Formats: sequence, structure tokens, C-alpha cells
Amino acid sequence: MFFLIIVGKIESINSFNMHQNVNNLVLIQDLIKDKSKKDELPTIIAVSKKFKISEILPLLNYGHEDFGENQVQEALEKWIDIKNNFKNIKLHMIGKLQTNKVKSAVKLFDYIHSVDNLKLAEKIANEQVKINKNIKIFIQINIGKEDQKSGIDIENLNSFYTKCKSEFNLNVVGLMCLPPLNLNSDNYFIRMKKLANNLNLKELSMGMSNDFETALDCGSTYIRVGSKIFGKRTS
Ligand SMILES: *Cc1c(COP(=O)(O)O)cnc(C)c1O
Repeated sequence: MFFLIIVGKIESINSFNMHQNVNNLVLIQDLIKDKSKKDELPTIIAVSKKFKISEILPLLNYGHEDFGENQVQEALEKWIDIKNNFKNIKLHMIGKLQTNKVKSAVKLFDYIHSVDNLKLAEKIANEQVKINKNIKIFIQINIGKEDQKSGIDIENLNSFYTKCKSEFNLNVVGLMCLPPLNLNSDNYFIRMKKLANNLNLKELSMGMSNDFETALDCGSTYIRVGSKIFGKRTS
């Protein structure tokens, strides 16, 4: 606690000389403002997986609120204390979620972007009722129909969405995808936008460091940016 306060002070005195990660974030924020015609700007999720708190702290002190992690254990170790000190933080689970990790995930996270099967949906529902939480849910779509990727197939989306809503009472806010690598992402993003429109879902979680500009042009409302903010992940 004490440590955090001190670092916060130094950071704000030094605001002329912003930390590189903050600079990177501000560049993306400016780009979004230029692109967007709407009042409500898309959210930048700073994907901090594999990065230490010391790399994250400058962004926290700058006031950034949305962060993404892809492993429950790593997220618990890094974020429990931080969340107690920075009350406005919204933590996004963006990776594959095993049902045996749901209980701790539901306690820690505010959004889950990777709901891709009924067992998981049901478990999230059961756990969040116990602690009176209402997590914002994205359904992950296997938009490129790739064997190695998780996600609901397009033809099963309607029935899956209906079950999430009516059987499990989940707060489904949108759809998420990881399009195939090395291909033009825009075709997939455009398809995602249509799927969301058909279900009257407002949010789209799509776009990463290499393709977030394309994703924004296609209507993304949550971009998930790691390396463009934090630099290269080493492990
Ligand atoms: C790691 C990760 C990201 C961020 O990737 P970058 O290329 O570093 O921006 C986004 N989404 C998911 C699901 C990820 O696992």
C-alpha cells in the first residue's frame, strides 16, 4: 500500500516525462479519438499477461482502468492487492477458462471474454450467484472455423446465446474472436459485426496489437492490446 502511494506521487510529478508504456497507450488513445465519430469511445484493454506489476503501475497511476489477463493463477497473484488499492480497475479474462478455475475467476474478474461452452456458462452462473456478482460476458466465436481455436461455431451461436440468457441468466454483452493469423482480418471482423447485430449485442471484443485499427474500422468496441503497450513478451 505504502509503496503504491509513493510510486504514484513520483509518477504524477514526472508527468512531462511519461513512462514508455503510458506513451504507447496515449498514442493508441489519440488514434481512437481521431477514428471515432461517436461520443462513446472504444475501450482499450491493456493486456498485461507475462508483465510484472512494475510495468503495469505507470498505467495504473496514469488512470487507466481496463486490463486483460489470460491465466487465472497469474492474474490472482498480480491483481488481488492492486484491485484493493485501485477500486475502479476492471479486469478482463481473455484466455481459455477451465471450469475448475471458474470460482476464483468469478471472484477476481469483471469481464469474461472467452465463454465457449455450456458447462463453463453454467459454472460461471452458479458461482456468481453465490457472491452476488454480475460479470459481463462475451461469447467467443471460432470465426475462422479453426481446429486449434476455441469458440462457438457460427451455426450454433443462436442456440448457445439463448441458453446463456434464459437458462443461466448470464449478462451477455457481446461477442469476441481471435481471427486466423496472417490473413486479412477484416473479412472476419465484418462477419462478427453482423453476428452481433443479429443478436442485438452492442459490444465486440476484437483487434490486437497487429490488427486493432482494422478492428476499429469494423466496429470493435473493446480492443485487446498487449505488445503495442508493454513491448515484446519474453516468455
Ligand atoms: C495476448 C492476447 C492479446 C494481446 O496480444 P498482443 O498481440 O500482444 O496485442 C489479445 N487477446 C488475447 C486473447 C490474447 O491472448
